[in-house]
Formats: sequence, structure tokens, C-alpha cells
Amino acid sequence: MSTETFAQIFAQGEPNEAFAQYFIGQSYLAPLVGGNVPVSNVTFEPGCRNNWHVHHGSEGAGDQVLLCTAGSGWYQAEGEEPVSLEPGSVVRVPAGTKHWHGAKADAWFSHLAFITPGKDVRNEWLEPVTDEVYGRLPGAGA
Ligand code: MN
Repeated sequence: MSTETFAQIFAQGEPNEAFAQYFIGQSYLAPLVGGNVPVSNVTFEPGCRNNWHVHHGSEGAGDQVLLCTAGSGWYQAEGEEPVSLEPGSVVRVPAGTKHWHGAKADAWFSHLAFITPGKDVRNEWLEPVTDEVYGRLPGAGA
């Protein structure tokens, strides 16, 4: 596998092998800080996206926050229209929301991500975002 570099202000990290089974395409993971609220930078090559998934938690825990820093990508919650993401875009994914995020077909994409800590936090990975679904997304520049 080749490791490509995408110019961005945060570290790109290493190929995201640990979670590769839950992604289509190549992603990269850079853990930035640990502690009670670990924050990572996630980079997606063009066309790369994670599977549908749910971040679970209770009593206010388990929300995911995405802070978009470079490139161009998508966020989509089940039953909702896809949201185009650019540097500066901020997404809060409420706990229990089935969703996916990733790059556009023709662009790299990076976001910082963290999950509000607390009770019953866990991730549930589901089916891939198929080429059929991904291919229906609006084209670049739309
Ligand atoms: Mn997520």
C-alpha cells in the first residue's frame, strides 16, 4: 500500500489499519491528544468513506463532533440529505444517530473528531455506503 500525503495543518498520521474493515478506500488516523476527551485527525483519500455507524452513549455521552479542517467531504445522517463539508464546517452527531462521513469522490478530506465522554460509550459499525448510494451524491462544485 502506498502512503500518500495530503497537505494540511494537522498531522495526517498513519494508514488507519485498525479500522480499515469499516471503511471503503484508504483513511489515515492521527491521534492528537489522549486523556478524557481524545481527539484524532482523520484523513480520507478521494472516494473514501466510513460505513454507516452509530456512536452510542447515555446521559449526554456519545455525541460525536466533527471539525472539518481541509479538503471537501460529506456527512449524512440516515433519512436526511447529505451535507457538504468544507474547512470550517462543524457537525454534531447526536448519540444514537445512524450516519457516515467521508471524502468527496474527487477530493481529499480531513476532520478532527471527538466523542463526548461518559456512560455507555461505544461504536456500532454497520453496512458499507454502497457505490450506488455514494454515486448519487451531487457532483463536485454542486
Ligand atoms: Mn461517526
